[in-house]
This record gives sequence, C-alpha cells and structure tokens, in this order.
Amino acid sequence: MDQSHFCVHGHFYQPPRVDPFTGLIPKEYGADPYGNWTEKIYHECYQPNATVGNFQKISFNIGATLFEWLDQNHPETVRAIVEQEAMVFQRTGVSNAMAQPYFHFIMPLASARDKTTMVRWGIRDYVAHFGRHPQGMWLPETAVDMASLEALADHGIAFTILAPWQAKDPAQDTTKPWRIKLSNGKDMVVFFYNAFLSGEISFNPGASENADGFVHDWLIPQSQTLNRPGDQLIVAASDGELYGHHQPFREKFLSYLLDGAVEKQGIQRQYPALWLRDHPAEGYAEIIENTSWSCHHGIERWRDVCGDAPTAIWKKPLRQFQDRLADSIDTIYETRLKNLIRDPWALRDDYAVVLLGSDKIDTLIQRHTSQSLTPGQASMVKLLVEAQFERLRMFSSDAWFFFDLDRIEPLNALKYAAHAANLVEQATGQDPSDGLISLISEARSELSGLTGDMVFLGYLKKFEKLLRLDQV
Ligand SMILES: [Zn+2]
Repeated sequence: MDQSHFCVHGHFYQPPRVDPFTGLIPKEYGADPYGNWTEKIYHECYQPNATVGNFQKISFNIGATLFEWLDQNHPETVRAIVEQEAMVFQRTGVSNAMAQPYFHFIMPLASARDKTTMVRWGIRDYVAHFGRHPQGMWLPETAVDMASLEALADHGIAFTILAPWQAKDPAQDTTKPWRIKLSNGKDMVVFFYNAFLSGEISFNPGASENADGFVHDWLIPQSQTLNRPGDQLIVAASDGELYGHHQPFREKFLSYLLDGAVEKQGIQRQYPALWLRDHPAEGYAEIIENTSWSCHHGIERWRDVCGDAPTAIWKKPLRQFQDRLADSIDTIYETRLKNLIRDPWALRDDYAVVLLGSDKIDTLIQRHTSQSLTPGQASMVKLLVEAQFERLRMFSSDAWFFFDLDRIEPLNALKYAAHAANLVEQATGQDPSDGLISLISEARSELSGLTGDMVFLGYLKKFEKLLRLDQV
C-alpha cells in the first residue's frame, strides 16, 4: 500500500559573534536576561529541543560556529544531541544529521578553493561530533550552483535539500528526491522541500499551535493535493531556531508532531538518508543556478541591492573589497609558503584539526613541510595560516543579510578582515589591504554615516596597538 512520509528539517546556526580581540562574545543588548543572543536562543531553543529528544525525531544540521559555542558553553547539550543522533543510527543504519560548510558561506560566491576548504572543514567538524562521515550537507541559505554541488560530491556527499523554486521545472514533483547530473561524472541527490508547509510552519503561528491540528488541517490536505502514485515524502525545512525562539514553545509542538501526531494519522516519520536507503532516487531533475531560499532575486542579497534590501548600496563595495583582499592575502600566502610547505592549500584544508583541538598548529605545520623550519619561518607560516582562517570567516553570509552596514554582522566581517590583514603584515611586513581602502570607503551606513574604511582602519589600528602592547 502506498505510504505517506513526513520529514522536518531544522537548520540550526548562529553566526560567529566572537570578538577576535578577546575571543569572547561581547554583551549584546536586547538579549536580556542573557548576556548575548546565542545564550538567549540556547535557552529558548537548543536546550529545550534537546531535552524533549527532538534531535532523534527531525533531520537537522548544526553549523560549526554554533557547535563550537555549544561545545564551549553547554557540552552536556552537545552530548544529548549526539546521543539522539546515535540512537537513530543504531535503529536505522543511517544518520539524521547533515553536515554544513564550516562557515556560513554563500557557496556560489566562493572561489573553487574556498568551496573545497569549507566543505572539508565542515566534514571534519561533523566527524568530530558524530564519529562518521556525513551523507548529506546543507548549503547555507540553500544557495546553489553546479560547482558547489560538484564540490560536495567530490567529498563523498550524496544529498542536499533545496527550495522547490530552485528546480528548473516549476512543476517539479517534490514528493521524492531527484538526481542532478554533475560535470564531474557524479550525481547529487536533491530533496526539494514543500514550500507551502515550510512557509506555514515558519510564518503562520496558528499552524503550529497544535500538532494534531497541523496534521489534520495542513499536512493531510497538502498530501492529498499532491497525491502522487507510490510512496510519497513531504519535507518541511526551516531554520531550527523557529522551534522555541522565533515561535515560543514550538519544541513541544515538534516533539508531539513527530512522536504521535503524524503516526496516529498513518503517516510515517522520515529522514532524507533513511528515505534514500529504502527508495533510491532514480529520476533526473535540473536546478536553477545562483538561487537560494531567502533571496527572491537569486543570490543578489549577498552582493548587491535587491528587493529584499533595496537601499543597501554598501553591500557591493563590501563584497568587492573582501574579494580583492582575499586575493591579495592568497597571493602573499602562496608566494611566502611555496618553498617552505609542500602544498600550502592542503595545509589550509588541514587546519580544521587545529580548530577542533585535535592537533597543535606547530605539529600541523611540521606535517606539511619536508624541511626543518627556523623559528622565524615557523612563526610566519603560523601567522599566515591564522590569517587564512580570518579571511575565510569574514565571508560568513550574515554580514550581507540585513539592511544596514552599521550592525554587528557586517562590522564583525570587517573586524575579521582587519585581523587577517594585520596577521599578514605581522608575518611578512606586507599590507594586503594596500590600494583597497578607497573601495571599502564606498560602503556607508545610512543610519549612522559610518563608512567601511573608518571601520576597517579603526580595527586595523586597534590590532596594531594590541600587538605593540604585547611586545612591551
Ligand atoms: Zn533578494
């Protein structure tokens, strides 16, 4: 008999809010009674969802910057999440957790090399937490192009989840996953989520007030409307923070929905990897490149003005400045390291072991060189690798999401950029931002009049001053 299946995917993520000067998250206003937003959302969402066991009921991914914060601040909750995933794996032989590129990159806007590094670091982060290689990877903002899917497939990733409007065929059947043919000879399986149900759960609080009501009045009618022959799968995807933070107490809705309410109506709880275990994807579909789930103009939101932020003329110069700064940092990195390190980019890819605390930077560098480095050379390599970390972190997509430049996310992006520039200068005496300041001066806050060059140079001075204090 044909069977209906239902899967909820939660994308759990917080941007890196840490201040590179202190390594801590500064006090944030509006997060009362907690010190910062991550802590507030923890108490409203991450902890309660772990407490009611939702991490074995849903499909989920946890961004590395959030995982790191949880590891440091609430390791007991990380243990609970990992145990819940392990129970699913024991029961089914597949995982309900997906990986994510390490930083929240808009992958189509990243260079090929950055795509590789983000995928590799993301996989390492996943393995460090769950103890196995990921089968699925969530793309930040579901931003996609063929090169991003190829980077995933090259690293053994089998599937991802996209919005239905990212399918080339506007009438794409979303009740089963599809194969995307890639130019590297591999396929990527894509689950297109159900836009109606995902939208209702996200934006209509009435839909998620009562789980039985949701099944009866939303899920079943939607399933009957789609009415495809054979088993069918409906996926509802949203930010995980919806459950408890954006919508209070929805962790309870989610818990009962997937542990009673859907089964009572004869619908089976499902995860993408479990579906694929029993229903290998057969048909082929095509995607529209440079699209996402939260910009209705492709991926413009993260590089230029678009209908989602029509006055944000600061975005374009910020993106251009960072692209040029990254190029300049990379040239110095490659030139300085090519005679010391076997493959400087392999060294960068391997840096995840330092981030995850399983290796010291000095040991890592030793592994990547065939010579005995002088203390001066070793210190230069270390600073340049650390600069790479900051220059990657500055591309976290949060910087471009909102309307104005004068917010913590874009300011942090410039802070990470300044830190990267400062580390390169410490290492080599070369300033990678040379000639780029006029570009970033074009990014201006409509609210405060603050300009990008003021912010960048201000941070740069602060880093230089700290360094001088350090040397005293
Ligand atoms: Zn847009």
